[in-house]
Amino acid sequence: MIRKFIRNLFSPKASASDSIVKLRVISRKKHGVTSDKISSCALKVTTCLQQAGYSAFVVGGAVRDLLLGLIPKDYDVATSATPEEIRALFRRSRIIGRRFRLVHVMCGSETVEVSTFRGPSPSDAKNISIIRHTDEHGRLLRDNVFGSQEEDAIRRDFTINALFYDPVKEEIHDFLDGYKDIQEKRLRIIGSPEKRYREDPVRMLRAVRLAAKLKIQIDTPTAAPIGDLAPLLQNVPPARLFDEMLKLLFSGHALACVVDLRKRGLHHGLLPMLDVILEQPMGERFITLALRNTDKRIQRGMTVSPGFLFAALLWHEVLTAWKCRQDAGEKLIPALHQAIDKILAIQHKKLAIPRRFDAIITEIWVMQPRFQVRAGRKPFRLLASLRFRAAYDFMLLRCESGELDPEIANWWKEFKNADDECREGLLMKEGPARKRRKKRSNRKQTNKTTEDITVVTETTK
Ligand code: ATP
Ligand code: MG
Repeated sequence: MIRKFIRNLFSPKASASDSIVKLRVISRKKHGVTSDKISSCALKVTTCLQQAGYSAFVVGGAVRDLLLGLIPKDYDVATSATPEEIRALFRRSRIIGRRFRLVHVMCGSETVEVSTFRGPSPSDAKNISIIRHTDEHGRLLRDNVFGSQEEDAIRRDFTINALFYDPVKEEIHDFLDGYKDIQEKRLRIIGSPEKRYREDPVRMLRAVRLAAKLKIQIDTPTAAPIGDLAPLLQNVPPARLFDEMLKLLFSGHALACVVDLRKRGLHHGLLPMLDVILEQPMGERFITLALRNTDKRIQRGMTVSPGFLFAALLWHEVLTAWKCRQDAGEKLIPALHQAIDKILAIQHKKLAIPRRFDAIITEIWVMQPRFQVRAGRKPFRLLASLRFRAAYDFMLLRCESGELDPEIANWWKEFKNADDECREGLLMKEGPARKRRKKRSNRKQTNKTTEDITVVTETTK
């Protein structure tokens, strides 16, 4: 029965073809991954489950990364035990997930995700036991479709993500020729590419991210339908899309990913207006620099703030809206606030960027005009503000991209690193501006707008 189901899953165009259900057991001598390479928590979890009589394997990205000589980001375990059985074995564990329940097992600061072998989706599984639970309104709370190890392999996305590592025997179980694909550096979807992308369009983004991260090629039949099916991403719930975009942007290979997304036509409507921004040379340069910096930081193990990156991705939209407001006669700072409100409101409508990032994004943007004030007490106040570092880095990007005079970046670098006495010496004279301020104060206006006049000319030139 299962074999029949599996045969049905694979259309004639299937990229992982008829060899699909032939289990190959690969010995340590061949694959070379010893059990001391996996995290102590993953080792403990798999050993414990096996001792209790269940089968248990490290699966997915961790096996793939170990075979490619990379350090796994996290560990997933797949087992024949049900969530309740897993939960009963580990004191520090909890069941999570609604539709498909899995268990988080904690050891010290590490968490391993343990899931029961999963079977085919309900529509495909007429003869496989399905456990469904709904609330009083009929909303689906749980949709656990348990299956065999073989089925668990087949429901995964790519062959290289469907390898099972048994740390006790130090063997790899391979149902889909994933081991060969790893060696040949090929990303191949399991089953019919079109069917699998239709089932879950996020797999197209995963293909791009994994190819960039692992520096491997997407197999031709796996890549072929992506261009045509790209619009399907519009049906993916925004929160899920956002999570996937975070993974992509913080993969350490964001620039390569965005370039490839573009090449494959996957960028439309994905990131907030990315398509529009990338069409403008200045916007493209700014985003390229921001992504390159982010990649460098991540590769060096440094932290990156999502707020900063979103501020960068949206900045050229803000600039356009800001200019529009000024052209319509609005003063500089109110125009900036209006532009920010507009751009963030558009994002909220699309739910592209969650509101929790608004505060940091807004702060970084609002601080930008202040970098152009290099006289009086204001530079000192800016330097002392909480978000100075993020806003300063952002200003450096603006200079580097050609939007601002690089002289501003140089001045701030010097000012930031100097002692108080030297800082006083670096301050600019308030010559003509003072005159203007006097004139304005005669008109009972605050001196705030004086510096703003300088800003207008610099930002709109
Ligand atoms: P990484 O953790 O390095 O980003 P990963 O492949 O481990 O990559 P996860 O999101 O941790 O990605 O997923 C774990 C595993 O779950 C995958 O290796 C794959 O087998 C399976 N998986 C994840 N997303 C999907 C999907 N959309 N469709 C099918 N299987 C998936
Ligand atoms: Mg993973």
